[in-house]
Parts: sequence; structure tokens; C-alpha cells
Amino acid sequence: MDVKMDVKKLQNIVGGDWVVTKAEQMVDYMQDAVMGAVIPKPAKNVILVKPANAQEISEILKLANKEKFPVIVRGGGSGMAGGAVPNIDCVLLSLERLNKIEEISKEDLMLTAEAGVPYGEMVDKALEYGMFFAPRPGDLGAHCGGIVATNAGGARAVKYGVTRAFVKGLEVVTPTGEILHLGGKLLKYSMGLDLTHLFVGSKGVLGVITKVIFRLALKMPFSSLILASYDERLDAMKVAPHVTEAMIIPLAGEYIDHDLAVDSAKYLGIEWPAKKGKAHIFFVSEGENEDVVYAELEKISKICEEHGALDIVMAERREEQDVIMKSRGETGSMQKAAGNIGDFMDVAVPPSRVADLFEGMLEIEKKYNTWIPTCGHAIDGNLHPTPLKELADRGVLEDCKTDIYKKTVELGGVLTGEHGIGTIRLHNTPLWPEPQIWELMRGIKKVFDPNNILNPHREIPD
Ligand SMILES: Cc1cc2nc3c(=O)[nH]c(=O)nc-3n(C[C@H](O)[C@H](O)[C@H](O)COP(=O)(O)OP(=O)(O)OC[C@H]3O[C@@H](n4cnc5c(N)ncnc54)[C@H](O)[C@@H]3O)c2cc1C
Repeated sequence: MDVKMDVKKLQNIVGGDWVVTKAEQMVDYMQDAVMGAVIPKPAKNVILVKPANAQEISEILKLANKEKFPVIVRGGGSGMAGGAVPNIDCVLLSLERLNKIEEISKEDLMLTAEAGVPYGEMVDKALEYGMFFAPRPGDLGAHCGGIVATNAGGARAVKYGVTRAFVKGLEVVTPTGEILHLGGKLLKYSMGLDLTHLFVGSKGVLGVITKVIFRLALKMPFSSLILASYDERLDAMKVAPHVTEAMIIPLAGEYIDHDLAVDSAKYLGIEWPAKKGKAHIFFVSEGENEDVVYAELEKISKICEEHGALDIVMAERREEQDVIMKSRGETGSMQKAAGNIGDFMDVAVPPSRVADLFEGMLEIEKKYNTWIPTCGHAIDGNLHPTPLKELADRGVLEDCKTDIYKKTVELGGVLTGEHGIGTIRLHNTPLWPEPQIWELMRGIKKVFDPNNILNPHREIPD
């Protein structure tokens, strides 16, 4: 593609210091957290621009429309789908300078942050005020704008929902450069269509999110965790739906293969506490006081036992809980460092079907004579199977992934539960049985972005 981008005009908008053209100064911006055989290749002709506010972003997008160059939005770069990777010649728009927490209101239980505020900083600020932002994507360096753009999930969706449930208002710059204020510090809003939530999960395709108003929850003072170990991986996976069936909604219910857990802990320089079994499931409970928490975990423990647990460990101390949470949260980083991964998948099915999905995967493992290391948010029905690179070496990685996707769709699930299509899953979209959804999405994109300027060729198949 012959793309012309005028550095001088961009410097006039944001100032000379904030336009980067030297490749060696933008190495860290050329990838996101995608790993394995599917890492997207960055383009050569990229200009990195770091605007300070919505007004400058508006001017950049107006220029882009006039001169017809693509703009790709980058938040914290922790995305797992290649959406923020400049894989085409473009202006790469980094939001890192929009980094202020503007307000925290205890009366409204709301926090207003610019899009480039790191997620971890926002969570800490909320905690200072006794308030809690429940969605928990694993990377604290993700940006507030990025977690809204991806509608990030994480381990606590079963109890609190995903990021969407916490977004009340947005400031957005449309691809044609209009600055919009959607929603607000409001608990009720019924003005026409809900455009605020159209932008939640829009992955930068419909506009640049520049500011977010989050509604927070109250921080529960007590939490604890139990970890149950199983001889058979499928038995561990079967437990989570029995917990919700018993009308218990813990804070989280996470599955992990034993070998993956041990390697991840080793990578972090800590020790995985469970010695027995091929797989583990752990549940986190929170509450007003210890009695409430322990009563809930007692009930869950009984359910684990009834369904064949070999061993159950209670992690009472915060440090013990952290070892388990961190080992689970950093499996991807460990696998990336080990370099033996083909793809980090993100399939989701109705929570009641999670064991059926896993059973299907065990069949697929047999078919390809491989191990598919797996962890995931079992109680949400969202798994991260990670087919190994050796499948790519044998030329069967895509076939293996297609089998997993087909099984997922057969069970009423989706190709991606929280990471998105990005650039790396576009070729898998024909597996979705209702192609008309992509046609509708292309239509919505055209309304907001008639010249296909912002985040083109990602998230929605062309
Ligand atoms: C170790 C690890 C664990 C993770 N665990 C989870 C998890 O449990 N659950 C989960 O959901 N995710 C998880 N993720 C993925 C990632 O953290 C989330 O997708 C996160 O929301 C991405 O935010 P970001 O700011 O890094 O976005 P980026 O990677 O920068 O961008 C992601 C997409 O959003 C667009 N975008 C970014 N900012 C904006 C904006 N302001 N306006 C418009 N578009 C924008 C980009 O163009 C791109 O398409 C994990 C990642 C890592 C590395």
C-alpha cells in the first residue's frame, strides 16, 4: 500500500517531541502480548505519535481522513489478539500521555480516568478509597482505555461480570474527528440507543476512547481460597458447574493443568503448593467477614470432595493466595519465555458446557498425538488451550485449532471470550455459522468510519 504521512503536519499537531520516526525508538511498540506461531509481523513504514488530549487526536484523525492514511490505536500493548500491532503502514497512536486520574467520587461510587492510565494504577486508587474494580485482566500495564476497548474479562466475571458492567460514561473521538461524550456519572440513562456500550469492546474500530467513567463496587474486607487437586484433568474441569448449581457464586473458579502450574511457579521463582494430581481447580471467596467466607469455602470444599478430589488445600494467608493466583496469571508469560507455544486460544462456552468442551479437547489431543496445555476461567466457561509449536512444525496447528473452534461452536460457544479477533483470528471468522453478523458489523463500521481510517483490517473481516 502506498501510504503518505506528513511528519511535519503531525508535529504541528502534537509538537516535535511526540512524533517518533526512528525504528529503534519504537521497538517496544511493534508487538503486543500475542505469542507463538501467530505473532503478527509489523510493517516498515510506521510513525509513532503520542498526542496529549482528545483535541489533538481529533486533529490527527481529520488529517488522516484528508490525506487517507490509516491510524492504529495503541493502549498498554497487553492485548492477546494483535489488534494494536502496526502490521500495515500507518500512524500508530499511543495514548500513554493521557495518563491522569481526573476524579474519584465516593458519593457516586465512580472514578474518571483518562484512557492511558494503567489499569493497575486505577485499581490501586480505587482501593485507597475502599472501592473495588472487579474485572481482572492479568496484565496490570493494560490501559483503562484498552480494557474498555477490549471489554476485558479475567477471573471474576462469574460474580461481577466483565468490564462492560463497570462502564458508565466515555469520551470518544470518532474516526472522522468528532469528540463525543457518551453516558456520564449516571446510574440511569435512556436516551435513544446505548452508544456508550457500543464502544465497549469495539477494539478501536469505531473510535478512540479518550476518557472513561467507571462505576466501582465496594471492597469486601475478607477473601480466601481453596485449591482442589484431581487425578484426571476432566474431573477437575467438571467441578465448577456443580458449584454454581448449588447456588454458590464465588469470586473466581480457575482451572490449571498441574505441569503448567509447576512450570509457571518455577518461572516466577516460587513453589506451586499442590503436589498431587494432574490438574487443579481453585475457588476464591470474598465477604463481609471471615465466617461468611469460610462457610462458602466449606460448601465448595464438600462439592470438590464429592466429585473425587484427591486433596484440598486452604490458602488462608494472603501470600499463599498470591502464589496460586500469580502462578495461574503468569502461565502465558512463562509459555512465551519457553517459546514452545503455537497459539494462546480463548474459547468460551456456556459455563454448564465447559467439561464437554474439555472432553472434546482431550479427543483432539489424541487425534494429534499431543498435549494441549490448558488453563482458564472454568467457572465462566472460558478456557485458554495452548496448542504447542510442535504442531506448527508438523504442519497441523491450524487443523488442530479448527477442531477446537468447531467443538466450541457446536456447544453454543464463541471463538474468543475476552481477547478478541484482532488480526490473528480474522482467518478463523468463516467458522462462525452466521456470516451476516460480519456484514452488519461492516455496515456499522462504515457509518462511523466512511474512509476506513481507524484500525482497519482487524476485528471485523474485510
Ligand atoms: C499476562 C496477561 C494476562 C492477561 N489476562 C487477561 C484476562 O484474564 N482477561 C482479559 O480479558 N484479558 C487478558 N489479557 C489481555 C489484555 O490484558 C487485555 O486485552 C487488555 O484489556 C488490553 O488492554 P491494552 O491497553 O493493553 O490494549 P492494547 O493491547 O494496546 O490494545 C488492544 C486493542 O484495543 C484497541 N485500543 C486500545 N486502547 C484503545 C483506546 N483507548 N481506544 C480505542 N481502542 C483502543 C487497540 O487498537 C487494540 O485493538 C492478558 C494479557 C496478558 C499479557
